[in-house]
Amino acid sequence: MSDCKHFGMCGGCAYRHIPYEKQLENKENEVKELIGEYIDENCVWEGILPSPQIEGYRNKMEFSFGDSKKDGPLELGMHKKGSFYDIVTVDECKIVDEDYRVIIKETVAYFRGKETSYYHKKSHEGYLRHLLVRKGKRTGEILVDLVTSSQKPCDTICCEQGLLEDYVNLLLSLKLDGKIVGILNTINDSMSDAIKNEKTDVLYGRDHFFEELLGLKFKVSAFSFFQTNSLSAEVIYNKAREYVNKDLKNNSVIYDLYSGTGTISQLIAPVAKKVIGVEIVEEAVIAARENASLNGLTNCEFIADDVLKALDNINEKPDYIILDPPRDGVNPKALRKIMDYGVNNIVYISCKPQSLARDLQMLSWYYKPVKVCVIDQFPFTKNVETVCLLSNRKSRQSH
Ligand code: SAH
Repeated sequence: MSDCKHFGMCGGCAYRHIPYEKQLENKENEVKELIGEYIDENCVWEGILPSPQIEGYRNKMEFSFGDSKKDGPLELGMHKKGSFYDIVTVDECKIVDEDYRVIIKETVAYFRGKETSYYHKKSHEGYLRHLLVRKGKRTGEILVDLVTSSQKPCDTICCEQGLLEDYVNLLLSLKLDGKIVGILNTINDSMSDAIKNEKTDVLYGRDHFFEELLGLKFKVSAFSFFQTNSLSAEVIYNKAREYVNKDLKNNSVIYDLYSGTGTISQLIAPVAKKVIGVEIVEEAVIAARENASLNGLTNCEFIADDVLKALDNINEKPDYIILDPPRDGVNPKALRKIMDYGVNNIVYISCKPQSLARDLQMLSWYYKPVKVCVIDQFPFTKNVETVCLLSNRKSRQSH
C-alpha cells in the first residue's frame, strides 16, 4: 500500500509502496551485482547511506501543463505513468515540500479560472507549457519560472501582461514557508517536450536563488545544473572529500572533471594547491567562477570544454582526479587519457551504476576500487549514486 494518492497514476516515483529500508537494501544490492566483479576482498564496502530527508527532499521540480483526458480541465504536474500526453496534477506530491504543493494548487486554479490555453504537443498550439520551481533547502529562497509559448494566452480580450501581472501578485500573496525571490517567464516554442530557454523575462525579483552546501554559498540560475537533493548532495560531497583527503598533500593539483557549477571544486579547494574544473555547459562554468569568487576561493580554475578535448590543452598535470560524469558515464577515449596520467588515486562519483560498471571494466586495467559507498539521493525512485575510490595498481609511483 502506498501513502501517496498519486502513486500508480503518476510517472514520478516507482517505489512508493516499498518500505524505505527495503528500498535501500535493493539499491545497494543492485550496485553490488553490477560492479561486484571488479571488487576484491581488500576493497572496503561501506554499504548504503540513506538520504537525510525522505519526504520533501527535492530542491527542483519541472511540472507540465496539460490535461488528463481529452478536453478535460487544465492539469499541472507529472506525466501519467507511461503516457506522453496525459498529465496528473500532483498537488499532494510527497517528494517536494508544502510550498511546492501550494504553488501547484494555486497556479492551476488561477489559470483554470482565466481559461488559459495550454500547449498541445500534437497541434503545437496553446500557451502554458511548464512550471519550473526551485527552492534552496538551506536558504528557503524560491524561484518560479512559468514556461510558455510565444502565442497568445486565450481568444478573449485577455491581455498577456495583465494575466502575468495578476499571476505574480497571486504568487507573492501566498503564505509559504520559504520566500519567493524571483518569478520568471521563459518563452519556449521548440517542438520537443524538454524546456528550451529561448528567452527569459524577469517578472519579479531576480533570475537566480542561493543555496548553501557544507558552509559554502552557491548562486543557481533557473537552468543551471545543481544536485536536486541538497542534503543528500552534502553526504556525497562529504564522502568524496573524505576519500580525497586520504592521502592528499596540500601542494596537489586536482582535476574536477564534469564540474557543473563547481560545487566539488570549491569544497575541495581549501585542501589543494589548485583545482581545475572542466565542464561543457558554458552557463554552468560562468556560475562556477562567480560562486568561487563569492566564496573567496582564488585557487579554482574552470574550463568550458568537452573533457575529451580539454585534457589535451591543460598544462598542469594532476596529482588527483575526481570524476562526476553524466548518466552515460565517461567517453572511453577520455577515460584512456585520464588513466594515462597515472595518478595514484581517482574518485569516481556515479549517478548510474550500469555506466560505472562499464567504466570500471576499462579502469581496472590500471586501477582497482579500494572503497565504495552507495548513497541514496532519490528515495522512492530507481536512481542511486555511488562514490568509488580507485587506487593505481602500480601505486605510489611519482610522475
Ligand atoms: N559535479 C557537478 C555536476 C555533475 S553532473 C555537481 O556535483 O554538481 C555532470 C556534468 O557533466 C553536467 O554539468 C554536464 O553538463 C557535464 N558534462 C556532460 N558531458 C560533458 C563532457 N563531455 N565534458 C564536460 N562536461 C560534460
